[in-house]
Amino acid sequence: MNLIIFGPPGAGKGTQADFIVNKYNLHQLSTGEVLRNEIKNQTKLGQEISSIINSGTLVSDDVVKKLVESFVSESKYKNRLIFDGYPRNLIQAKTLNELLTKYGQKIDLVLKLSVSLETIKKRISERLTLEKRADDSEEIAIKRYKTYEKSTEPVIDYYKKLNLLKVIDGERSINQISKEISDIIGLI
Ligand code: AMP
Repeated sequence: MNLIIFGPPGAGKGTQADFIVNKYNLHQLSTGEVLRNEIKNQTKLGQEISSIINSGTLVSDDVVKKLVESFVSESKYKNRLIFDGYPRNLIQAKTLNELLTKYGQKIDLVLKLSVSLETIKKRISERLTLEKRADDSEEIAIKRYKTYEKSTEPVIDYYKKLNLLKVIDGERSINQISKEISDIIGLI
């Protein structure tokens, strides 16, 4: 089973992805986390992308494609991936289709966590205190939310038309959301 989890930054994607990973023995591919690790480890790629990530805009589709292919092509991850933070636009969605087809796989389910901007602002300010991420500030949070809305909604529509989309109310407690996700996965 390969899944995609959508939600604006701060929607709890990472938390729910962790839950699904543990319960269903999947591997979480958070492109944001992989990119942040490149910066932390001061790799060549990390140096190239740090200002882009810290300003809250998107890294190029090509960079992310290479990174995603390195996971999709690995036999240990075959049909075990949960995509978190990818795809973020229609080009990436089509690329993901091509990559999965190339390696004999597909997407089985797409989850969307639906959360308001007010809730996002509150959660981002809490996370800022806890994690000290360089890309977390209210101003950048609003920018990322708007970038998310603008570029990701067409992707969500794309999966809706493919009948793969399930929308989840992300305003509720972590446990309530996890329970609903388990129920949905149980049906596929
Ligand atoms: P995230 O942790 O998913 O919010 O990602 C943090 C940052 O990493 C984003 O603001 C982008 O700069 C970059 N990033 C993560 N995933 C992608 C992607 N699929 N395409 C382009 N940039 C990405």
